[in-house]
Amino acid sequence: MERYNRNILINKIGTEGQNLLLKSKILVAGAGGLGSTVITSLASMGIGSIGIIDDDSVELSNLNRQYIHNIKSISKYKTDSAQEWVENFNPDIEINTYRLRFDHSYSELLYYYDMVIDCFDSYKSKFVLNDACINENKILIHGGVSEFYGQVLKIIPGKTACLRCLFPDKENLPAEIKGVISPSVSAIGSIQSMEVLKHILKLEETSLENILLCFNGLKQDYKKIQINKNKKCSICN
Ligand SMILES: [Zn+2]
Repeated sequence: MERYNRNILINKIGTEGQNLLLKSKILVAGAGGLGSTVITSLASMGIGSIGIIDDDSVELSNLNRQYIHNIKSISKYKTDSAQEWVENFNPDIEINTYRLRFDHSYSELLYYYDMVIDCFDSYKSKFVLNDACINENKILIHGGVSEFYGQVLKIIPGKTACLRCLFPDKENLPAEIKGVISPSVSAIGSIQSMEVLKHILKLEETSLENILLCFNGLKQDYKKIQINKNKKCSICN
């Protein structure tokens, strides 16, 4: 508990809240840029069990933002490199890694976890994850980032708008490599992590349910856009 003293000193967390965090099981989908910030934040807060899905290996061009990996991790699997980071940082955390490209056949992976965090980088994967979470009734914290900009959305199956409600045309966009800068990724990953904390401890003065939070790093501006379920959404309806 000494490790978590500064968490516990927060009235709204306390020992009881810290115990809830220690009992939580969170699945992080993607161990890249967003995943680096989300995994380090969850491990710091004392989330008891973290699952990590990724099938990529670390490349030199990842290191402008994926700080959970380092120069010695080049060519290693990101799942191995991320696991190593967590074990060195906080060996009390249970860590499960899944080296695979997520598709519908892996939906049962979600059963074990309380919540899923979307840290994937392609919309194709994001949509597959969105659909799996809706079908398996798991809360999903979506995050996306590009250049100086990013967005976060909390998706509650059956209750709130999903990714498909919002971007029905994005699924078939051709994959392209876009530029991205570390502070944008860290900002969005931090907001996703805060949503995890708020959900577990029921601290939701405002929740990003049916609200798309849009970040513009150049303007230092956070906008909340109210959204609704799309009656034509193929997965929600
Ligand atoms: Zn939908």
